[in-house]
Amino acid sequence: MYKNVLKNTSVNLFSIILVAILFINSAVSAQSTGKNPWAIKDVGTLPPISSLTKGFWLKGELHIHSSHSKESSNNSVAKILAFSQSVGMDFICITDHDNHVDGDVAHNTWTDPEFKSDSVLLLYGAEWTTTRGHGNVFSAKPYNHQLLYNVRDQRDTVIGRIKRQLGIHLSANHPSGKDNFGYSYDLVNSIEVWNSVVWSKNANAIMIWDDMLSSGRKLTGRGGSDAHHGTPDSPDKATANSGQRNANYVGTPTTWVFAKERSSQAVIDALTNGRVSISSNPYAPRVEFYADLNQDGTMDMMMGDNAKATGKPVKFRVQLTGEHIPEGKFTITVIKDGSKFGTFEAEGKMPMIDFTDTPKMLGRSYYRVIVEGPGTPYPQVPGAMTVNGNMVGLSNPICFNFDPNF
Ligand SMILES: [Zn+2]
Ligand SMILES: [Zn+2]
Repeated sequence: MYKNVLKNTSVNLFSIILVAILFINSAVSAQSTGKNPWAIKDVGTLPPISSLTKGFWLKGELHIHSSHSKESSNNSVAKILAFSQSVGMDFICITDHDNHVDGDVAHNTWTDPEFKSDSVLLLYGAEWTTTRGHGNVFSAKPYNHQLLYNVRDQRDTVIGRIKRQLGIHLSANHPSGKDNFGYSYDLVNSIEVWNSVVWSKNANAIMIWDDMLSSGRKLTGRGGSDAHHGTPDSPDKATANSGQRNANYVGTPTTWVFAKERSSQAVIDALTNGRVSISSNPYAPRVEFYADLNQDGTMDMMMGDNAKATGKPVKFRVQLTGEHIPEGKFTITVIKDGSKFGTFEAEGKMPMIDFTDTPKMLGRSYYRVIVEGPGTPYPQVPGAMTVNGNMVGLSNPICFNFDPNF
């Protein structure tokens, strides 16, 4: 019995020592492997950059309300489409408020006999109008909007599941101020950084965009007039808001996309990948923004593209393109990682500036530009130029070391 006690004691002692050794071992290994898995690391090989020449610059309107939105006036689908065609728009998305039809845009805006065009690409969409703010849906083909409407008050994880299931492009609308987008930005592919002709209203939207870009969310910035009111057919049909039509209508601002082909799907793809810039109206110069990675004189990437930083200097080029560039000086402000990098001046028939910088090898960087200068008249919306001020255009970012699997 005494022997047994001894034996048991030694077994127990052995167990205690064994447990102690295991505990110390696991503590040490937790320390060695417990590195922050989210720490900045090499981004690895990135997908190749698409051709800079095989494609078409297409311009369009991505936020407008027809008579299927209750607050709109004198703005039938036919009126919007005829106007869009007359000013040379390539695509348009009529984004009526889904709450006015209990989510059933498919049997309202899209089945309207006027919802057809021979020359303008019509995207399918709606303004998701919820208690937590507004977002636009863009799709090349009809989708089940009712499903998105039904989950508007659910947790973001539920909404994210439905969004993926529908295969739609979701965009945060007027992200600051009234009806600001109150959902996670992880749900969206783009953000409305220029809402309506009144550019000055967008300062907070731009701040949110920079915060999202700086945190690794490669969201495309896009525009939208959010116009609700058309020209009355006769003076007695005028409303208190009819005057807005003369300053804010289709194309104030205009969103340009570099699409691989002339199709609705190619427009959506460009919107998602970020080869997009925004101009104050359809006739204002288009901002193009390129980078030459190896300084061989040929541009290798444009806005929306993402490359691996090599540690060598990169030459950037901003140019304004258009048939009738107004005379005068344009001021081009370059923003790098949310802060001002520099200001440049350009003038002439094709205003252009170059600048050089070396993006850091480890961690993300991005560059985007703002162009201000002489306004371009928009005779079909004559009051636009006065309200818009000297804002000309906005680029999307050129990115380095963004994780494509983020
Ligand atoms: Zn809205
Ligand atoms: Zn709206």
